[in-house]
Amino acid sequence: IIICRDVHKWYGNYHALRGIDMDVRRGEVVVVFGPSGSGKSTFIRTINRLEEHQRGQITVDGIELTHDVRNIERIRMETGMVFQQFNLFPHLTVIDNITLAPIWVRGWTKAQAEEIAMQLLKRVGIPEQARKYPGQLSGGQQQRVAIARALAMQPKIMLFDEPTSALDPEMIKEVLDVMIELAESGMTMIVVTHEMGFARAVADTMYFFDQGQIVESGAPEQIFGDPREARTKLFLSQVL
Ligand code: ATP
Ligand code: MG
Repeated sequence: IIICRDVHKWYGNYHALRGIDMDVRRGEVVVVFGPSGSGKSTFIRTINRLEEHQRGQITVDGIELTHDVRNIERIRMETGMVFQQFNLFPHLTVIDNITLAPIWVRGWTKAQAEEIAMQLLKRVGIPEQARKYPGQLSGGQQQRVAIARALAMQPKIMLFDEPTSALDPEMIKEVLDVMIELAESGMTMIVVTHEMGFARAVADTMYFFDQGQIVESGAPEQIFGDPREARTKLFLSQVL
């Protein structure tokens, strides 16, 4: 469902992505990990055009990502994104955060959108928080709202950029549990994370990034059990 061929990205003179190749199947759960500055966020952000690549090809569900704005909009409709810093609208209630885009972009009625929002809030375990504002919720609850908000657009693909790294330890599990449930429901996911327990539990394929390149990829059993590259071994020894 996602095909990346020799994707390059420069920030000015800085070569941040140096030839990324990745194929993601429908329903596949991909974990991207690697040191700070290795291009993980840049890569995941190029997939929905929050960053522009300068060379190579990205195709999402048969739509090639080019300068064509219609293509960019279609790809954005199919991809939900969850960030490290929740990025909820602080002046809107939880339910309004979730229903805003479906009402404006999908053209749903408020009643339809609210019904679906309530189902999603149940799915992420916080239906009782619907009328609160983001500032009144814990970090873990806010991140679950962010996941519900992304799901409300009924994306085919979910992109996560270190969704638990801003959370206190006791809240990490409640967010990972939602992500595990989503993975098991068959959602196609690319997750940048250093939560190796999550990777071991649900990843189909792991990609180790370093200096803008994929150094190694494989199933979790292979990456954890028998990493081929010295850099992967060293990195894993630091995070495990
Ligand atoms: P982290 O684990 O710290 O989140 P990362 O792997 O996500 O790191 P990126 O944020 O993708 O790394 O950054 C890759 C490189 O590109 C870094 O050297 C960074 O300084 C640089 N970079 C990122 N965003 C920009 C930008 N907007 N302008 C210039 N350079 C940038
Ligand atoms: Mg990052």
